[in-house]
Amino acid sequence: MHGCRKRLCCLEGRSHCGIFLRTFPHKQRRKKIGGLSMRSRSVSAFRRLLRCSKLTEVSRNFADRPCSSSFETFVDLRRVENSTIGMPVFTNPDMVASAAVQLAASEIDLEKLKYVDSIGVLLESLSSLPQVRIADPASMAAKMRQMVAAGNKKLLVISDFDFTLSRYANESGERLSTTHGVFDDNAARVDPELGKKFDELRMKYYPIEFDPKLTVEEKIPHMEAWWGTSHGYIVQSGFTRAMIEDFVRKSRVVLRDGASELMQSMEAVGTPLVIFSAGIGNVIEIFLRQKLGSVPRNVHFISNMILFDSNDKACAFSEPLIHTFCKNSSVIQKEASFFHQIAGRSNVILMGDSMGDIHMDVGVEKDGPTLRIGFYNGDVNDEASLDHYMAAYDIVLVHDSTMNVPQRIFDLVSK
Ligand SMILES: [Mg+2]
Repeated sequence: MHGCRKRLCCLEGRSHCGIFLRTFPHKQRRKKIGGLSMRSRSVSAFRRLLRCSKLTEVSRNFADRPCSSSFETFVDLRRVENSTIGMPVFTNPDMVASAAVQLAASEIDLEKLKYVDSIGVLLESLSSLPQVRIADPASMAAKMRQMVAAGNKKLLVISDFDFTLSRYANESGERLSTTHGVFDDNAARVDPELGKKFDELRMKYYPIEFDPKLTVEEKIPHMEAWWGTSHGYIVQSGFTRAMIEDFVRKSRVVLRDGASELMQSMEAVGTPLVIFSAGIGNVIEIFLRQKLGSVPRNVHFISNMILFDSNDKACAFSEPLIHTFCKNSSVIQKEASFFHQIAGRSNVILMGDSMGDIHMDVGVEKDGPTLRIGFYNGDVNDEASLDHYMAAYDIVLVHDSTMNVPQRIFDLVSK
């Protein structure tokens, strides 16, 4: 404490860093540094900085922790450190003065620093996992710093369902079903002709959806035809709500390991989860009710919904049609009842398994970062596809059937 006071006196005399620092009587809640009003919390942070006698210590204590632009100067300090290891902390007085002024002007929550400090540890740990690919760790860390600083009240999760919240393959490597696949799985049982029609559609259009030689624009008319025809078959069949519930119960849709726990974590802290699916929303609702007992209160849907008539028979689908390549603002209904619940949530965790998922946050009014988590279910030897995913997603999980990594990221940024 005495040493700290001594350094402050030095500062008053401008002997080292040129900062003019004047403290006011203890009872005053705000103090002044460099002529700027400063909260007492920031003053203590500044004093902690002063206690560090080496540039390396400043770096260790602050450079990895910045959660707002006010700390950018400390990042600069770290760069200086690379060429001046071991030099006294006040080697560059202008930088320290500038940092102090920015610190004084900021509203820094020191409690948050503890979590920001964990970002480097988490990224290092994730990077060591064989299924994890991160193209630009620095960019990912910067996004996470912003998210941690803002906290859970600013956080929104947007997730695809098919092969993202649900698993792509079972333990034997056999492909599981999508929400549309629920009808493929069951139609043949109740109507063999209809089952054949669904099979033909899938064989015709699935290769087009994933053809790397076609552009999105070239694929869109085919996707519209596929979805439109498939929905037409479902409506013509006159399936009832009870039949569809039975189809879901007997389907091969399986939640990714840890997905229900992740959804429960989000519900527990009140983080909204928007399930944005080009599949069938009713099927997801029924599935979650069957698996979890109810649809978590924080879950909202943007999806194709089957409409039922007074006899509970499927009679139409909601508009606009949502297919793989239009998952963006063009299909978001701003009047949707949940929209006020996500207003002001400017930081997004986005989860998807296809290139069509990366713009799901477009249309959400926000100015914060989007952290994209991509599940890659394709050929691990297809380096071109993997590179494509790594360019689009901040973190790519290769053949990972669990939600362990998203859970760890969510736990940190929702503090
Ligand atoms: Mg998907």
